[in-house]
Amino acid sequence: ASKARNNRTAASFALGLQGAKEGEVVTRFPPEPSGYLHIGHAKAVLLNQYFAKMYKGKMLIRFDDTNPSKEKTEFEESILEDLALLDVQGDGLSHTSDYFDQLYDLCIKMIELGKAYADDTVQEQMRKERMDGIASQRRDASVEENLKHFAEMKAGTEDGLRWCIRAKLSVDDPNKALRDPVIYRCNVLPHHRTGDKWKIYPTYDFACPVVDSLEGVTHALRTNEYRDRNPQYNWMIEALGLRPVKIWDFSRLNFIYTLLSKRKLHWFVNEGLVKGWDDPRFPTVRGIRRRGLTVEALRQFMLAQGPSQAIVSLEWDSIWAINKKVIDPVAPRFWAVLQDKKVLVTLKGAPSTPEVKMLPKHKKNPDIGEKKTTYTPQILIEQEDALSFDDNEEITLMDWGNAIVQSKTITPSGEVTAIELTLNLQGDFRKTSKKIHWLPYPSPSLIPVTLLDYDYLITKKKLEEEDDVKDFVTPVTEFKEEALADPNVVDLKKGDIMQFERKGYFILDGVYPNTGGEGTRMEFIRIPDGKA
Ligand code: ATP
Ligand code: MG
Ligand code: MG
Repeated sequence: ASKARNNRTAASFALGLQGAKEGEVVTRFPPEPSGYLHIGHAKAVLLNQYFAKMYKGKMLIRFDDTNPSKEKTEFEESILEDLALLDVQGDGLSHTSDYFDQLYDLCIKMIELGKAYADDTVQEQMRKERMDGIASQRRDASVEENLKHFAEMKAGTEDGLRWCIRAKLSVDDPNKALRDPVIYRCNVLPHHRTGDKWKIYPTYDFACPVVDSLEGVTHALRTNEYRDRNPQYNWMIEALGLRPVKIWDFSRLNFIYTLLSKRKLHWFVNEGLVKGWDDPRFPTVRGIRRRGLTVEALRQFMLAQGPSQAIVSLEWDSIWAINKKVIDPVAPRFWAVLQDKKVLVTLKGAPSTPEVKMLPKHKKNPDIGEKKTTYTPQILIEQEDALSFDDNEEITLMDWGNAIVQSKTITPSGEVTAIELTLNLQGDFRKTSKKIHWLPYPSPSLIPVTLLDYDYLITKKKLEEEDDVKDFVTPVTEFKEEALADPNVVDLKKGDIMQFERKGYFILDGVYPNTGGEGTRMEFIRIPDGKA
């Protein structure tokens, strides 16, 4: 069966889940409330959502809260926000802790059936025994003894705290996941929902199959590093006579130059190397959304990845290229000129007083509305463009017409400080090789903007376990350019995606009072487009 799963092709992925019936499929996404969701979680949740929709079924969201040492209410709130950022709404919201009473009863049942026992073997020795396939000394204790120890554990007595409960599967199965896994353990820390009611908590290996079954999940999607634990998952359900659940596994998602580990991301936050968990350099859901990655692109990318079982580090370029295809048809077009070294152009033949024309924000998509273009006696253009012009060259001013270069003033250091053009509106724009953007001048309403761009946080494609992240921090990862933008950008709202023509795609990150001056300054983040 595992071979068949390895051979799963895109075609069979399209066929969907094994044994799925329309209207009856229930999937679930079970995040642990111990951190923010990242792009790997996005794969899991979007696949779950896809299958639920495909079969007109349901997707449940379940907070997997069985470890009070790591979990907090605030993470539940942030995960719900992250899900909203992914346009994901569950058809039900629950907590594993909602089932603590039932899980406790089922553990008792397991002990009574002789399928679980209490063990106080010290951790290190237990590990060694499991490695070597040696039975625990406690393995054959009586049901009464086991129940007594479980009661002590539950009471949190000094003696109780030394014990755990193990399922009685196998001592020496070649699949080590089957060597009597721990199903209940002690923890005296207060739980963020159940407080100090419990001193014992089910492990993931026990709680996950049981609650999946109890909640009516028909298909449990899991990352394939759990594959060795699949038989164990099925065993728990069978041992307790619960309703079976089908497992569908998929590969974990990783990206080059990218950390997904909570611990390492924490380190970047703590060191102040990023602005927070929503930093556009972060692979968190809030980070990638802030950088302009759309849900539609994420969905397309994840579905394309769907059936692959290979755990590889993917390139960011491919997801950004998909994103570009999503945003290009709808991103309104605006113009901006870099602040430093912008060049003032005197335009012969231009109107002596400003004239305004309404033009589409996107030439191929009139649905997204119009913008105001103002024609003035002078204009501002990019230094780079001005430098490239030859004398008497005919160029095209976008949305205006052709113009001929009359004269340029160049400083000894090679900077253009002024330039004179004569409009040649009869000229054929198909015959010019330079089509440039410009800004009206004088214009009281040009908007100061900051254009931000980012690099990978780490210098190594794939950090190994033994690598110290400190040794691989990219020294500079934020790049800023100051520019002036055409007045139409004032209508944009935080999170809007647009294009500064001839520069690239950007997302509006925020609007701030302009430093020192009047009005506002807008900050835009460059959206990678998949071209290196
Ligand atoms: P895990 O429990 O798999 O170590 P986690 O502890 O980082 O993941 P959870 O909150 O437990 O995070 O994960 C919720 C769901 O997201 C699980 O189904 C998990 O397998 C899946 N998931 C987590 N990381 C990835 C990833 N990199 N790629 C794909 N799915 C992932
Ligand atoms: Mg987990
Ligand atoms: Mg993890």
